[in-house]
Amino acid sequence: MSDVGAGAQNILAILVRNASTLNSATSIDDVYRSLADSLAYMSGSPCAVFVLEGGILRWVVSSKNDSGMSGEEFMPAGIIAEAIRTKNDMLADSEGSGIPQDLVSKHGMESLLFIPVTSGGNVAAIALVYSKAPLDLSAEVRAAMGILACQATRALDGLKLLQRFRRCSNELARVYDIQFRMTRSIDLEEAIESIVENAPAITRLQYCMVYLLEPDVRNIVSVKAPEAVEKNFGKLKFKVDELVASRIAIAERKPLFIEDARNYGKISQRIVRMLDFKSAIVLPLVARDRVLGVMWLYSTDYMVRFDEDDRRSAIALADQAAVIIDNARVFKELEGSYEKLKDLDRTKMEFFTLVSHELRNPLAVIKGFTELLYDGTLGPINERQKDKLERIRESVDRLTDMIGKMADISSFEMRQYPLNKISTSIYDMVNELVETMGFLFTNKHIAVEVDVPPGLPPVDIDPKRMEQVLLNLLNNALKYTPDGGRVTIKARDRDEDILVSVSDTGIGIPKKDLGQIFSGFYHSGYKLSYEYKGPGLGLAISRKIIESHGGRIWAESEAGKGSTFYFTIPKYAGSTEAAGPEAVNAR
Ligand code: ADP
Repeated sequence: MSDVGAGAQNILAILVRNASTLNSATSIDDVYRSLADSLAYMSGSPCAVFVLEGGILRWVVSSKNDSGMSGEEFMPAGIIAEAIRTKNDMLADSEGSGIPQDLVSKHGMESLLFIPVTSGGNVAAIALVYSKAPLDLSAEVRAAMGILACQATRALDGLKLLQRFRRCSNELARVYDIQFRMTRSIDLEEAIESIVENAPAITRLQYCMVYLLEPDVRNIVSVKAPEAVEKNFGKLKFKVDELVASRIAIAERKPLFIEDARNYGKISQRIVRMLDFKSAIVLPLVARDRVLGVMWLYSTDYMVRFDEDDRRSAIALADQAAVIIDNARVFKELEGSYEKLKDLDRTKMEFFTLVSHELRNPLAVIKGFTELLYDGTLGPINERQKDKLERIRESVDRLTDMIGKMADISSFEMRQYPLNKISTSIYDMVNELVETMGFLFTNKHIAVEVDVPPGLPPVDIDPKRMEQVLLNLLNNALKYTPDGGRVTIKARDRDEDILVSVSDTGIGIPKKDLGQIFSGFYHSGYKLSYEYKGPGLGLAISRKIIESHGGRIWAESEAGKGSTFYFTIPKYAGSTEAAGPEAVNAR
């Protein structure tokens, strides 16, 4: 290679080699190093590269034949400033080149060539080729040097894209971690911890602190701060009105991006000194239109010039933190309400147990004496008295039935409900029941159809309890079906269970009530059913019984057209989630 630059063959070889070196470049310095060496080969003279940052040119690398310019930096002027402005390469001699005189003399720069390297459309660096003798470069060599600069531009843009991609993918991984922890736990501390841990990597700031606002007293209290801060200051608590940045962020519901905290007017310098802020972002935490707190992201070791990515990810982080805090609060409130409801329910059940226990004996006494009076055992009675006694007897029976149901429901709720399971034929059970109740249906001119295959396999159930369910469904069908209707009882053998249904052509249940009729003390709002009002406990008990057998009960209905009640009985123990007295007691 001659001193006056490369020949045509060499030019090609240098361009190819530069391209291949750039292909494997992993850092921006690698790109400049390859450019400096290639330009030096091409021109036969030393080359140094200066990056342009904040209007200052700072040396970064030199070709191997350069004597080194470590630490050199200067403001561009003269021709070099012109090269930056026009983005064109320019030749200069030592006079008016814009390079500081001491640098020129130290390196013997008589003839200089400035080649701007752009990235993202702006000049990112200047490659300086220099020599003691005048740089006599052919047009081909000058053109090829331009191509080298273009190659560098390509590589720089590629690397920057790669860096941005890496940053985004890192950010994504961390956002995912936060989301994962958020969904795995509704614990405020854990979720906030994940935000505080991941925030620095997502935003380029070093630390994150999350504060909750106590709106009544206008305090903000730290939920999570970096370890060192917690160690030095414990839980931080400030009056919002004594702070500047937080107060503005909360009042205006807008983030503040503070690049130079020490020279920023809208931040309390007491806090800046206390936590040693260099740069900071202060974000309001807003969820469902309420400000819940503020998040501070800050650096102490360096200043950050925020770019669009920083702004976007900081805002996204704050949004996440706000959702976490809001969810945790709602959950806590719900938990509190649930506990209160549970307490109420427990009290209700204890009351049921007490009342049903206390009323049972007096009712038995009333019933007993009523029977004695009615039978005439205690002396003769007239027809009017008999009629009234009949009424008393009916009312006592209704009360006894209700007290019995209340006792049943409470013992189910208190988990004191042993099932005595034995192998039972549903076919026999249905037929016996229909036979016993037959006259009731006949009296009301309701046709009863039984569609139960005799070959239905026997099932392990508590027959008394199952009978209670069927009886309740048949009673309801009878109660809610007007004269001349029809009631059908069906049973089907399926793979895992037996499906039993009781249909009627009665008054039906509006759709909106279907979900609630099994909850207890519920009467369908449908006006016709008021005439038939019972205690509203039968279906609730039926559900408890069916569920304790591991089955399911539900209803389908259309107001005015009729209802069908279904329930399933698992055929095999353990084929559904629970079966047997142990399961009931243990639940
Ligand atoms: P009740 O003692 O009131 O019959 P249930 O728990 O058995 O209590 O039923 C609850 C409510 O469901 C009833 O009040 C009624 O509104 C509705 N219901 C139950 N079975 C039927 C049916 N076959 N037809 C219409 N409505 C029904």
